[in-house]
Amino acid sequence: MKIIIIGSGPAGLAAAAAAAENGAQVTVLERMPELSVKLRASGGGKCNFSNTLSPVEFMEKFGRNGRFMQDALNRFPNEFLIRFLEENNVPVSADDGFHYFPVSERAADIASAFRRKAAAHGAIFRTDSTVVDISLGFQLELSSGEKLTADKVILACGGKAFSNLGGTDRGLKLAEMVGHTVTETYPALAPVQIQETWVSAHAGLSLPDAALEFGKGRNKCSGHGELLFTHKGFSGPCALNLSGNIAAAASKEESFQIRFRPCWKHSVEFWQNELELMRKEGKIKLVRTWIAKYFPHALADRFCEMADASESRCCELKGSSRDKLIKMLGEGIALTVAGVGPMNCAMAMKGGVKLSEINPKTMESRIIPGLYFAGEILDLDGPCGGYHIRWALSGGFLAGTSAATL
Ligand SMILES: Cc1cc2nc3c(=O)[nH]c(=O)nc-3n(C[C@H](O)[C@H](O)[C@H](O)COP(=O)(O)OP(=O)(O)OC[C@H]3O[C@@H](n4cnc5c(N)ncnc54)[C@H](O)[C@@H]3O)c2cc1C
Repeated sequence: MKIIIIGSGPAGLAAAAAAAENGAQVTVLERMPELSVKLRASGGGKCNFSNTLSPVEFMEKFGRNGRFMQDALNRFPNEFLIRFLEENNVPVSADDGFHYFPVSERAADIASAFRRKAAAHGAIFRTDSTVVDISLGFQLELSSGEKLTADKVILACGGKAFSNLGGTDRGLKLAEMVGHTVTETYPALAPVQIQETWVSAHAGLSLPDAALEFGKGRNKCSGHGELLFTHKGFSGPCALNLSGNIAAAASKEESFQIRFRPCWKHSVEFWQNELELMRKEGKIKLVRTWIAKYFPHALADRFCEMADASESRCCELKGSSRDKLIKMLGEGIALTVAGVGPMNCAMAMKGGVKLSEINPKTMESRIIPGLYFAGEILDLDGPCGGYHIRWALSGGFLAGTSAATL
């Protein structure tokens, strides 16, 4: 059985190791001059390849599409990935109790472990080999004009995010060439630009547990966590994790607003009580000094300025300023989204090959028998924290095993 795998990211590597170990004759084609470029840069070069969540908790973090991963995560769970790495001389640990890294803190060790394993079973890796055409049968054409044939093909081409590290739409185009549907794509795990200039004026500040949200009722979409103020808007896990959803929602409206709550856990009631306490006990203290118990001074000053309370003393805070402060801090401040990304600064892509066209039990196309998919090329995106690589590895193992054995 001759299998060609397009892409040498974590999905392609896991597929190669699994298919080669199951007796297939494997060739991996990579368009970049080096293998696994994005994987080797991941997690700041340390590769946060997984986390401690159970498959059920893990899938929930990918939203409605997450259930698609069930078979891959159950057949090739965390324990399997960890054992695979440790058996291939890459000890791993989750020192903070959540994020898994190689003990060496070298992402390259993870890439080498997979490559060595696949190569030991005869897999061939070719760089500078861009697949530009695919026809059924299978026949592949490289940008050099070279033609290759295979019994089965695994598309593990990743998504468009971070082009410097190999992100490209070439895989999506190959999928479309053979009749697959690609859903709308957006940058995810990307910075969010905000129109209101007061936000960028605080570039460099961070809040430990802020919230961003949009929509109402069942359509409400929200996230919380550390939020960084940047020269153009927001970054940090709170903004990054919601960025794909913001990008998708913002693309449908001319002027799109999100709500920013500087402290996620404090509700309107909390601020009502707190400002009442402040009025009684703060005496001649400035309101902004009291509010600075909760936020960096510059932000406390900004909130008071927005509530016309810059120079107000606690004992004489006007009712209108008090109401504004409660609304801003408890319900949130409306901000206009100026953009998300761009894609070449995004760590992931939202959207991709439509999941209903793939069999989740095998990762085989429901349209073209013998064609398999794995990794970020599929319409699945999760938050920061080892989600994307774990999915690429488990899905890659399933695709490689299925292609070699079915
Ligand atoms: C800076 C950064 C840091 C990250 N850190 C983490 C992290 O710590 N933890 C985590 O879980 N996720 C992280 N991610 C996300 C994660 O790296 C990706 O989701 C993951 O690499 C996707 O794996 P993949 O195998 O599907 O695709 P990729 O890793 O993108 O690999 C696909 C490969 O296919 C090649 N290719 C594409 N088209 C063709 C073609 N036509 N012919 C030949 N080759 C082709 C590409 O050049 C690429 O090398 C990070 C992303 C970035 C950008």
